[in-house]
Amino acid sequence: MPSTISNISLTYQVPEHLPIAIYQCDTAGNITSYNQAATKLWGRVPDKSNRYTGAYAIYNAAGQALALEEHPVARTLRSGVNVDGEELIIERPDGSTANVMAYCVPVLNDVQIITGAVNTLIDITEQRTGERKHNILAAIIENSDDAIVSKTLDGIITSWNNGAQELFGYAADEIVGKSITTIIPVNRLNEETDIISKIKLGQKVDHFSTYRLHKNGHEIPVSLAISPIKDVQGNIIGASKIARNITRQLEAENKLQRYAENLEIFNYVGKVVSENLDVQEILQKVTDATTLLTGAAYGAFFYNNIDENGEFYTLYTLSGAPREAFEHLGVPRKTKLFSPTFSGIGIVRVDDITKDPRYGQNSPHYGMPLGHLSVVSYLAAPVLSKNGDVIGALFLGHPESAMFNEEHENLVAGVASQASIALDNAKLYEEVQRLNSKKDEFIGLASHELKTPVTSLNGYLQIIDRNLFDGDRNKTFVKKAIAQIGKLSDLISDLLDVSKIESGQLPLNYTQFDIAQLVDDITEIMQYSTKSHRIIICSEAGDINVNADKQRIEQVIINLLSNAIKYSPESGHVNITVSKNENAVSVEVQDFGIGISKEQQQRIFSRFYRVDDIASHISGLGIGLYISNEIIKRHKGSLSVTSNAGKGSVFKFEIPAIQA
Ligand code: ADP
Repeated sequence: MPSTISNISLTYQVPEHLPIAIYQCDTAGNITSYNQAATKLWGRVPDKSNRYTGAYAIYNAAGQALALEEHPVARTLRSGVNVDGEELIIERPDGSTANVMAYCVPVLNDVQIITGAVNTLIDITEQRTGERKHNILAAIIENSDDAIVSKTLDGIITSWNNGAQELFGYAADEIVGKSITTIIPVNRLNEETDIISKIKLGQKVDHFSTYRLHKNGHEIPVSLAISPIKDVQGNIIGASKIARNITRQLEAENKLQRYAENLEIFNYVGKVVSENLDVQEILQKVTDATTLLTGAAYGAFFYNNIDENGEFYTLYTLSGAPREAFEHLGVPRKTKLFSPTFSGIGIVRVDDITKDPRYGQNSPHYGMPLGHLSVVSYLAAPVLSKNGDVIGALFLGHPESAMFNEEHENLVAGVASQASIALDNAKLYEEVQRLNSKKDEFIGLASHELKTPVTSLNGYLQIIDRNLFDGDRNKTFVKKAIAQIGKLSDLISDLLDVSKIESGQLPLNYTQFDIAQLVDDITEIMQYSTKSHRIIICSEAGDINVNADKQRIEQVIINLLSNAIKYSPESGHVNITVSKNENAVSVEVQDFGIGISKEQQQRIFSRFYRVDDIASHISGLGIGLYISNEIIKRHKGSLSVTSNAGKGSVFKFEIPAIQA
């Protein structure tokens, strides 16, 4: 039996101050009265022509426009039946909407004839908005890839989303109601105590990296963000926890770190081997670096020394194992396994060498000799020279299987190619050194062999000279021959000196003498044979005593003076100054000649070095300054030059007055 309103005249006014919207229509649907709550809900005063509704526009709960005939009031007027709560959406003139529940009853007169209808609208907008928000949040939580879990302050799990199931392996119904410690590793249980005490203080825990347990017992690296949950009064009643799987992030970080470390090792090796000319050191660095880069347990480099049978490999450097470990192993032979490496075909990488078909085929050991280092993972790379020859090979091993991957292969290939360049250079350097020492040997031998005949020749010429009377026209030739023999003899002496310096056998004979006097004497003698220049002594008169090898110091001064004269053909004089300061004495020779450029100044003291373009027309061997410098260095002194190209040079040496 539907409820109705009886005996209500058409002039009846709905209760004005009722907080619920209520309005009345006549049988035609015209609104005959309404209260304030209704105008508030509609956002306007209803239009007179407006039938059934009162709203600016009206929709059903699904948001579709509602035909007027379908309006609850129209239906009640038609059927006389109540509408007991139907959800509608009202649109106001300003575009805003309200969700309402409509309750409509017919109005009957005394004789039970429908004279109208009263519609009551209950505003449920807030409820709907709350629900919508809740649904959105719930959907976000359910569809999140992160695990989102809530728990009480006692650690009892109260909610568990799909992400949590995905991450930890438990379904919600398996774990809700259980303690959060179910997913905390035993050694990390104290973390929960810390977290809860922070939550109780209303604090958040952010970006906390730790490990949690999967249902299968595995630990998973996670980043946690935990926030307090408050009730409406603001009391903390629990915590929500977002856990993110950071396995990939950790892997990426580790990978990045590994790359950075590898790069560092790579650069270091590159630098060390390119700066190094010692084959043994280069190979040791290369073996150490590849062992480190690949995480190998052992690394070895074998040299490719070919014997008469076409195979013989020498163990050169080792890393990660003592030499003895290889002793009874012998050296690898050109077996099926080693052949591709020693033939330079390419890198061989095997996860388990003991299962490789090439392995264990050769007598006498048929595999690894007893007591040999246990090698399962195997990586071998040839080291080639620039012209493609196989210099040797790097072997890396690990007792566990599948320890090497493509990345390791690339790293080893990179180091091997750096090594090839360095080894080529080192070999070249060794060759140069070998030729150099051959040259030194030759110079030493030749000058030694030349000295005796030249000395005899000089003696014979002196005898002839003495036996010739003064008017003899051959006397001039003999004198010239003696002078040339003198030059030859000086040259031989210089070469012998070089040879002595090289072999570290330039003995010094210390005496006490007056170096100022020595300079005077040398100047006098040299001036005697020098017509082009005046040699001016610039120092003040007085004794300057020094303890040194007089002959060798004389040799240095003569060399500096003759260079000064030789390299200043356009000038008429050279200056020489001898002085004493504190515990040292110095001699300075100044000329006003061709000078030496800055770049050349360091190099003129090297053996056989001559400034090409400038001094090429002036004869010399380029050893005078080298010998002088060595003599001064042996006296614990220094020889230096200051010069300006085109203006002249000053050569100065300083030695301690007393040799310690
Ligand atoms: P040499 O004079 O026999 O060539 P040195 O060893 O005495 O050998 O000198 C090496 C080089 O240094 C010379 O070839 C010359 O180029 C340069 N040099 C030496 N002394 C002077 C100087 N006083 N002025 C300009 N250049 C000089």
